[in-house]
Amino acid sequence: MFEMIALPYGIGELEPYMPEKTMEFHYGKHYKNYVDTLNKLIAGTEYENMSLEQIIKATYGKPEKQNIFNNAGQVWNHEFFWKSMAPKVNREPKGKLLELINKKYGSYENFKQEFKNVALSQFGSGWTWLLQDGDDLTILKTANADTPVALGLKPLIVVDVWEHAYYLDFQNRRADFVDSFLENLVNWPEI
Ligand code: MN
Repeated sequence: MFEMIALPYGIGELEPYMPEKTMEFHYGKHYKNYVDTLNKLIAGTEYENMSLEQIIKATYGKPEKQNIFNNAGQVWNHEFFWKSMAPKVNREPKGKLLELINKKYGSYENFKQEFKNVALSQFGSGWTWLLQDGDDLTILKTANADTPVALGLKPLIVVDVWEHAYYLDFQNRRADFVDSFLENLVNWPEI
């Protein structure tokens, strides 16, 4: 049985950039539904005692297990997304992360534009990630519940670009939501 993780901040603490009402739907209904559905699907199966990562890897690319993969992927991706945001932190990457961004993208400004371009190029529902592989960084888009965890890749941040993530606040304006994520919500890790 999986349990919802607690948000690393209060549900209204990302106000005004991610309103409490948006989080009530996103965390309290969408994410909860993925956790509840996953628990129902794995009850009494070989997946019941596996970790989330193990379930994702074991069901990846298996059409007959797609439903389990989708829900496990969505649980993992949302949990990483919650941690990719924080109230009142420095929104600029620093240290080694900034060095790697500058090396790969020329500047943080260029990186933000490139990240946004990739987010906008995701047709339909999905996720936009920044991945780290040693000293190399990659911006990756994944569709639906696909997740870099299935491939053993290491994400640094993710933004949810399913419409349910931004429709209440930005309607169809995904670009404005991604801008707001980078300017007002992102929580850069130290690497
Ligand atoms: Mn979502």
